[in-house]
Amino acid sequence: MTLSGVARVAFVGSRRIFASHLPSMQSYTPAFSRQGIVCQMSVGMKSVTDRLRDSGLLRTQGLIGGKWIDAYDGKTLEVHNPATGEVIANVSCMGGKETKDAISSAFDAFNSWSKLTAAERSKGLRKWYDLLMAHKEELGQLITLEQGKPLKEAVGEVDYGAKFIEFYAEEAKRVYGDIIPATLPDRRIFVLKQPVGVAGAITPWNFPLAMITRKVGPALACGCTVVLKPSEFTPLSALAAAELALQAGIPPGVVNVVMGNAPDIGDALLTSPQVRKITFTGSTAVGKKLMAGAAGTVKKVSLELGGNAPCIVFDDADLNVAVNGALAAKFRNSGQTCVCANRVLVQEGIYEKFADAFSKAVKNLKVGDGFGEGVVQGPLINKAALEKVETFVEDAVSKGAKVLLGGRRHSLGMTFYEPTVLSNVKSEMLVSREEVFGPVAPLLCFKTEEEAIHMANDTNAGLAAYIFTNNLQRTWRVSEALEYGLVGVNEGLISTEVAPFGGVKQSGLGREGSKYGMDEFLEIKYVCLGDMNRK
Ligand code: ADP
Repeated sequence: MTLSGVARVAFVGSRRIFASHLPSMQSYTPAFSRQGIVCQMSVGMKSVTDRLRDSGLLRTQGLIGGKWIDAYDGKTLEVHNPATGEVIANVSCMGGKETKDAISSAFDAFNSWSKLTAAERSKGLRKWYDLLMAHKEELGQLITLEQGKPLKEAVGEVDYGAKFIEFYAEEAKRVYGDIIPATLPDRRIFVLKQPVGVAGAITPWNFPLAMITRKVGPALACGCTVVLKPSEFTPLSALAAAELALQAGIPPGVVNVVMGNAPDIGDALLTSPQVRKITFTGSTAVGKKLMAGAAGTVKKVSLELGGNAPCIVFDDADLNVAVNGALAAKFRNSGQTCVCANRVLVQEGIYEKFADAFSKAVKNLKVGDGFGEGVVQGPLINKAALEKVETFVEDAVSKGAKVLLGGRRHSLGMTFYEPTVLSNVKSEMLVSREEVFGPVAPLLCFKTEEEAIHMANDTNAGLAAYIFTNNLQRTWRVSEALEYGLVGVNEGLISTEVAPFGGVKQSGLGREGSKYGMDEFLEIKYVCLGDMNRK
């Protein structure tokens, strides 16, 4: 099978991630090495890296002022394939010095980029979107390679990620100000919206491409320039996206990429008065540090942090809809998203039926290398993630939870964990209190709507929540009562570029995606025009 054939078969779209039937790519060849890339992959995958290299997409250096640059001390760090442990590439391991230069280049570029017309910026973004879509297959394969998610889901991420660039190419033209009726007859009051300046964007590994486009898209649309720090676990997709931004004609210095020593890069971004905005997706602990650090220079901050999503199944829910919705909300990306259902709260009347049907559905989820045929559950990102999942399950079992399915490492080894369903879970167990970030679905039983709302809100997190019910009044009542930034009703996959994404409480500040995502990169300026009647 040719590679393009693989990807054609593979891509269906992100909404049907559990029906994947990918062709087998099992025949592994020995490692090969070229241009700093070391890989052990299937025969098919070898031509993927060849294609990526030919299109200039396999980048391993940082990007500063439009130039691909090594770390100043020559240091590199390894990027691994989580499914095999193989080293995919050695990328530049940068720190404070490189970041300062990236900030300077972004600061210089801001002067001209912010002064372009909205239509000109829009054209650049649109071209970038076209290139991302033209390279959808290779980018998807790159995501699977460095992050581990199944190929179809990875190609779905490219589609989803690229749509932020398309959406913000359009939104760039709609940064409207205001005219406010003045309080004095000889005055006029105007409101201008202007780009905030250089933005520091720090992104995680679970969506190596989409978290970048969701931040860089609106930033560039508003006229901001960016210093991006992708996760050290998955920098290759970010570098490929940056290469395509250059190919799209987005001027040098508008998008800069540094990776390596995260605290040093973070400090350089936080302490620079030239950086006016920090946008971050990642753990709550790091988000709190960044928020505190940004106070020193009073930067605008948006944070998309951890969740503890409740998925509430009421007695009156349609069983199939609830099972499929909970499955999608829980097991997408092997449970490694901040909107993944973390607690499945099931009303007592439907509990047994749901537990049974849900466990059967989970049992059918095929685990394996993301390039494997029919695989819908990839590996966890690393050993620490695997050990966290193990600790949470052990804690739950030691406190009385029952393992309905899974509950241990997968026989494939590496960081594969069996899709797991736990019943008899209680609110005080670790798996209910914190994000498990893995393929573990804890089932908790509740009696009344009030109890479900109380259980759902009894957490410091407030990102996504899901409810399954056929009762219209309950839909509204519960949606309004949930202290969450996003609510899915009878639907487990709700992220889209056109809707605002973000949390309340300790899940974060600000919104990404949609028209609201633009506000995060804009300042509001009030201009008072006085003495209108002076001759
Ligand atoms: P996760 O547990 O999902 O990896 P993290 O919050 O640790 O979440 O990481 C998200 C992003 O934040 C990554 O790009 C990581 O390198 C970065 N990061 C981690 N620590 C710091 C820090 N002290 N300063 C700046 N960025 C950091």
